[in-house]
Amino acid sequence: MPPTPPPPPPPEWPLPKFNIRIEDLAHPGAELFAREIRPLEALRAAVRASFELLYATPANAPTNVKLISLVLRPMDGVAYTFGSQAEKEIHFSLDHIVNSASRAKDEIMGVLVHEVVHCYQYNAKGSAPGGLIEGIADFVRLHSDLAPPHWKRAPAPHDKWDAGYQTTAYFLDWIEERRGKGAIRALKRRAAGYGLR
Ligand SMILES: [Zn+2]
Repeated sequence: MPPTPPPPPPPEWPLPKFNIRIEDLAHPGAELFAREIRPLEALRAAVRASFELLYATPANAPTNVKLISLVLRPMDGVAYTFGSQAEKEIHFSLDHIVNSASRAKDEIMGVLVHEVVHCYQYNAKGSAPGGLIEGIADFVRLHSDLAPPHWKRAPAPHDKWDAGYQTTAYFLDWIEERRGKGAIRALKRRAAGYGLR
């Protein structure tokens, strides 16, 4: 019997450069972040999670993003992402990290995965339906086992599929369960014509 060939090496994803800026090092959220997270590994893992689920192989992965900067700062809300085709900036609330202190690591990773999906979604056309954009970002978060405890699989009675966030994420998950793995990737490809990438 011929010897078993060694397993193929893991795929080389086209990872961008990463940058981090902490606007208030004395903030308790900055301390929590430093204790729980290794920034380079966390950002790489978030990009890989997004690529693996939405693009499947390195050949399909987008390469336009050259730099992702993570900015930790005191602010309302959770996080948001903006930038050019080549350079993205994720602003992440230090106050939100403090508010999630009991599960800081999972919450930080969950939010990073969600925002990194946006880094590769948004483009100049910006015409994709907001609910689907947010739903796909949370679908990747859900599949990375980073759904926060308050997410509910059962929708509220009047929720529509494109309500966004976890409602749409669970809807997309239901499609994937019924139609098979890769169904959401295929949907995303079809939506590309509408400015969703
Ligand atoms: Zn979002």
